[in-house]
Amino acid sequence: MSDIEKTKCLIIGSGPAGYTAAIYAARADMSPMLYQGMQPGGQLTTTNEVENFPGYPEGITGPDMMVQLEAQAKRFDTDVRFGFITKVDFSGDVHKCWADDGKEIHADTVIISTGATAKYLGLESEQKYLKMGGGVSACAVCDGFFYRGQETVIVGAGDSACEEAHYLSKLCTKVTMIVRRDEFRASKIMAERVKNTENITIMYNVNTVEVLGDGQGVTGTLVKNNKTGEETTIPCTGFFVAIGHKPNTDIFKDFINLDETGYIKYEEPGTSLTNVEGVFVAGDAADKRYRQAVTAAGTGCMAALDAERYLAAKGH
Ligand code: NDP
Repeated sequence: MSDIEKTKCLIIGSGPAGYTAAIYAARADMSPMLYQGMQPGGQLTTTNEVENFPGYPEGITGPDMMVQLEAQAKRFDTDVRFGFITKVDFSGDVHKCWADDGKEIHADTVIISTGATAKYLGLESEQKYLKMGGGVSACAVCDGFFYRGQETVIVGAGDSACEEAHYLSKLCTKVTMIVRRDEFRASKIMAERVKNTENITIMYNVNTVEVLGDGQGVTGTLVKNNKTGEETTIPCTGFFVAIGHKPNTDIFKDFINLDETGYIKYEEPGTSLTNVEGVFVAGDAADKRYRQAVTAAGTGCMAALDAERYLAAKGH
């Protein structure tokens, strides 16, 4: 029992949603406690240059932006903790959460900002160039600009892949879509749009064998037709992966309503409310549509304001 800690506001996750929620909650005197999670700083720490977050006219690297957001949250006395929440129990009036260090936390309000994880193919060459920031990305809107006037490849055939291929087609001279079956998973309208775009080439029944590079950056993609066995090298400087995301919501599934793909459902559209009173959601854990740092930050603000109002209504 000695290890139980109480807080008015527990924030789970440290991407732009979590830190923005912390800044707002701290400035509203809620003394928030924030657990950073498995990947402190979230998905932005795997992004090189962020040029689309308002307020940085020269751009900023993803890791630098997260350091600044953390510093801003700490400036207002957010209790930022290295570690992650392993279990929750939202069945009673008190929201109980357990951390990996064994602490039991009783929170009046909880803000879930655990984000989502982009899926990758898992090829060694893909991971190598991803880690060195050498031309592999899971976000065309974030990184497409760096491949202006160049040739790119994008893997996937869902709505995201179509949307991102179309986005890239406006910047790049040529976009090659790698589709593993003989058809798209995407909605008809999205698939038709890429099929009708002149500088998008679609290769069906192909799998990526290797991301090719010169040790500094990507130079091409080796693909293999899974019907004929024929191998083809596609020259490109950018290799985009759009094969889906996995929301980091597993620990909440017994208490919080999720959709069929694991994203948290908003109880009331246009708010941050979940089906559990006093538990709010921000960022990519509930967003499969926009997935941007700036939208995550916006919903982090909403969640903190909703949490503050909830506490005020309870007389705290
Ligand atoms: P999806 O799960 O819908 O699609 C994933 C795609 O990636 C599929 O075509 C799948 O192929 C392919 N894929 C998966 N694994 C591999 C692999 N290892 N190698 C090659 N290809 C692979 O994910 P999305 O991110 O596209 O969409 C998620 C959800 O978000 C959907 O419900 C979608 O409708 C929605 N969305 C809506 C948008 C909008 O309305 N504007 C925009 C973006 C997303 P296969 O088909 O063979 O399984």
